[in-house]
Amino acid sequence: MDISNHMVVAGPCAAESREQVLETAQAVAAAGIKIFRAGLWKPRTKPGEFDGVGTAGLEWLSEARSLYGLKIATEVASTEHLEAVLKAGVDYIWLGARTVTNPFAVQTLADALKGVKVSVMVKNPINPDVKLWLGAIERIENAGIESVTAIHRGFSSYEQHTYRNNPLWSIPIELKRKRPSIPLLCDPSHISGRKELVAPLCQQALELNYDGFFIEVHCHPECALTDARQQVLPSELVSILSNLDVKSNKNLSQNVTFYRDKIDEIDRRILELLSERMEISQEIGKVKKQSNAPLFQGDRYNKMLEDRIEIGKKLGLSGKFVEQIVRKVHEESLKKQLELNE
Ligand code: PEP
Ligand code: MN
Repeated sequence: MDISNHMVVAGPCAAESREQVLETAQAVAAAGIKIFRAGLWKPRTKPGEFDGVGTAGLEWLSEARSLYGLKIATEVASTEHLEAVLKAGVDYIWLGARTVTNPFAVQTLADALKGVKVSVMVKNPINPDVKLWLGAIERIENAGIESVTAIHRGFSSYEQHTYRNNPLWSIPIELKRKRPSIPLLCDPSHISGRKELVAPLCQQALELNYDGFFIEVHCHPECALTDARQQVLPSELVSILSNLDVKSNKNLSQNVTFYRDKIDEIDRRILELLSERMEISQEIGKVKKQSNAPLFQGDRYNKMLEDRIEIGKKLGLSGKFVEQIVRKVHEESLKKQLELNE
């Protein structure tokens, strides 16, 4: 992959020692990466775990910058952190997922950023709320920060599936739709929690037109004090990036117009049918009202759901997808019937 058109931020989860920072930074720079990340204050779930080296690591990051020509990035979660990193001339700061979840914390940092020249990266909040993410970005912009980047690192969920943090791709897509000029990076390390999934997630991010990556790299991941399973070796980073298939619209065939016209027509027909369906459900609503029957009929709803899922399966549609559509349509029908009472 030619990474020159993409922003790549790489480095260890946490700065652990001068040797670890410099060894990783040297390898990251040799891989052609321009921005080096390392956390100094680590937000840990449990007390008593390694929670970062704090301000002591700023010297190591500055050294990495002057030795290898890297820009340096670290997380800030308080005004004390911010003051220390600005004094050290850090180029990029990022607001972590837990900080972005709290508008008070974001506003306090935004207030401290007024009149400051630094680039700010804003991770998604841990809860799947695109408005909260957009709001944090807006608070930072309102402070006068000109260079703002968004980082997608996935969302916490009670049930653990394939990923450590559920990617819920529709949320970053919505962020990009609302704010197309804000560069969007994918953090495959925190989404996956496992280094084997870093490459496929990077490829998926390219398919979704992301502007770059934010990847954890450690010179000895097996000894890492935090997030050991998700950090890749510098050599693995090189192979992940070079094996990516970069996408572009340059050679997009005009054939696509032929199919898009068909899709436009199908969508119009779907909407006409939905509108017809809503009118009929209003008629049903009137009948229920005249009969003094409740609007929600559980048995009918269950049968309808099962039937539509069955039909959908025969047509090659996933049960989950059909279920979501039927639930939405039914919800809207009920809403329309309830409006008859107003
Ligand atoms: C990190 O990038 O090291 C980090 C702590 O990430 P997040 O805020 O996404 O958990
Ligand atoms: Mn980490």
